Amino acid sequence: MAYDFRGKAVLVTGAASGIGRAAALSFAKAGAGVAAADISDPGGTVEAIAAAGGTAVAFVCDVADEGQAREMVEGAARSLGRLDIAFNCAGIGPDGARIPYAPLTEARAEDWHRIVGVNLNGCFFCLKYELIQMQRQGFGAIVNTGSTGGYRFAPGFHAYAPTKAGVVALTELAANENARAGIRVNAVCPGPTYGTQLMNNSISADEGLEQRMKDAVIPMGKFGSMEDVVEAVMWLSSDRSGHTTGQSLFVDGGMHARP
Ligand code: NAD
Repeated sequence: MAYDFRGKAVLVTGAASGIGRAAALSFAKAGAGVAAADISDPGGTVEAIAAAGGTAVAFVCDVADEGQAREMVEGAARSLGRLDIAFNCAGIGPDGARIPYAPLTEARAEDWHRIVGVNLNGCFFCLKYELIQMQRQGFGAIVNTGSTGGYRFAPGFHAYAPTKAGVVALTELAANENARAGIRVNAVCPGPTYGTQLMNNSISADEGLEQRMKDAVIPMGKFGSMEDVVEAVMWLSSDRSGHTTGQSLFVDGGMHARP
């Protein structure tokens, strides 16, 4: 059954590319008004939504900066009238192109700080102001973005693993603190997902990576699609998951459970 988000106000971070962009388009297609936020101009996502007859507004924002995150969340709530749903998807990690893979002994402090800044601090800053807005309203649903990489720790990913484990901890803490305030907080934890910049770069940087992962690391023997992840995000955001909070839902072909 298709999701119906008509009349809902949805904020998506990391909305210029990959999973965030796919989620923004899906929420809009299901009738939601969307605030699309990204450090890169999310204008392309907003135009695609408008071309399909939907409603969206763009925010250029570095989630690693508390002031920018606050302005973005408050601006989104102002533009859309309130905030029913927030999908905190912005994230970075080593992909062999933008940030090198490195063992802990060779990881550079600047890369470490950047990943912690976006993935962990950024999630906290967005969450903080989304919760303030949703507490005022008395309702809301938030989905953070973890990763199988925050549960099974692949060598070379340095700060990525602890930041994504931290996102799960933040999710449970926020869920507990807000369970009686009408606000649910969950996380989606993708495994390797086709079509994202992150995975395109990883595959280009290491030719054998895809086959090795399919053969030895992912029990189902295949990568996921952005649609697989968005489906979980929409369920966690909708009333269909009304009794679910503090959950981290892996969408990874069984990778987190491999022997
Ligand atoms: P992506 O690189 O295509 O998209 C990430 C988006 O986040 C980009 O548009 C980027 O500009 C934005 N972003 C980066 N830094 C930002 C900042 N400081 N402020 C605001 N926006 C910022 O990759 P993706 O795979 O779609 O990533 C989405 C999320 O999914 C990330 O949190 C990532 O860690 C997670 N994830 C992805 C995979 C995968 O296989 N692609 C697996 C597990 C988890």
